[in-house]
Amino acid sequence: MIVLRGGTVVTMDARRSVVHGDVLVAEGCVQKIGRVHAPRSARVIECEGRAVIPGLVQAHVHLCQVLFRNHADGLELLDWLSQRIWPYEAAHDHRSLGFSARLGIAELLLGGTTAILDMATVHHTEAVLEAALEGGIRYTGGKCLMDEVADCPLHEETGAALEETIALGRKWHGRELVRWALCPRFVISCSEKLLSEVRSLSEREGWLVHTHASENRTEVELVRRKTGRDNIQYLHDLGLCGPRTVLAHCVHITESETRILASTGASAVHCPGANLKLASGLAPVPRLLAEGVNVALGGDGAPCNNTLDAFREMRLAATLHLPQFGPRSMPAKEMLAMATIRGAKALGLAEEIGSIEEGKRADLAVVDLTGPHCQPAGPDPHATIVYCARASDVTDVLVDGRPVVRDRKLLTLDARRLAAQAQAEVRRVLERVSRRPGN
Ligand SMILES: [Zn+2]
Repeated sequence: MIVLRGGTVVTMDARRSVVHGDVLVAEGCVQKIGRVHAPRSARVIECEGRAVIPGLVQAHVHLCQVLFRNHADGLELLDWLSQRIWPYEAAHDHRSLGFSARLGIAELLLGGTTAILDMATVHHTEAVLEAALEGGIRYTGGKCLMDEVADCPLHEETGAALEETIALGRKWHGRELVRWALCPRFVISCSEKLLSEVRSLSEREGWLVHTHASENRTEVELVRRKTGRDNIQYLHDLGLCGPRTVLAHCVHITESETRILASTGASAVHCPGANLKLASGLAPVPRLLAEGVNVALGGDGAPCNNTLDAFREMRLAATLHLPQFGPRSMPAKEMLAMATIRGAKALGLAEEIGSIEEGKRADLAVVDLTGPHCQPAGPDPHATIVYCARASDVTDVLVDGRPVVRDRKLLTLDARRLAAQAQAEVRRVLERVSRRPGN
């Protein structure tokens, strides 16, 4: 039993209530919010001057790429992929991939992110899943599918790719906090046969479908050339847009594609840091929200951001659109909803996580708002959290009621050791890249 005592509880429930009081956690759930008389045996976390928020949800990340942070700057999407990321991902072995995932999970948990939707790479996916179990993060994700991409070391035959994703999904889905997702990379690297199979598999198994869509102008143009249609329209025609579909980016999206997302219940994931750094453009997020699209938030890959800090991402998304859409187009409350309850909805977990409510799973982050960069805190804690707080202000994190961060220290993985060894690990991968034929 754990009591988070005397904090400002930013619940993100339907009324966006804020409660000054305690949160009682037992058996993995939030049992009570308000005044709690804790038994002597309860572990108490003092939250005076701190906000207790739902654990942040990042609905688009690539743990496999974390090891390549700061190794792919100054490129647009398609060059970034073909010149750096695909050769790097292809050079991963089980060990380097597990290391990359652990490094990413350490950064995420220490920064208050408790749930992710992850696109793994093509091979060695179990290294990522093992890291997720060890780190204790709430993981949804799966093996990346690419069966139509010339001269790419990640290319796989359609049948082999599907067989492996089915086998891994059946083995891992539902194990502790792991849920499986079908992850075709994007339309230009996938055959129509593969995408159609993904749709029927998702229907049969109930797995999420996670892909990239309309991130970059050239990508959208290539999809038009390949299919004769706009990207999201094409996915919709294949039956791939629905409440179990999560599309990263949606930067270059037409009005009619926006209506497709709204009417089918498919989610879009806004990744402003990556969209800026890869010079992709700005997703019209206030318009998507106004049209009724569920929009979540994600850091995307460490080599295109270059951090997985959800607080930076929130601040960016909350300010980026204002020159175009007006100063009230992205209120802080709405922003925090994208990083919590809307993210949970994208993951199909809105009944379990994404807000602090009695009976929900206890995925919680405690944010210290007493620092000079947060003071004086204004009347609205949502605004202080979105505009001022940083990942380093997170003091405590619970996932499914289990403490994973205590007093800014990660309990499940050795974050200091991971950071210290990252240089040597990436060097080993880059040596393998340089030894490949053609380099
Ligand atoms: Zn991505």
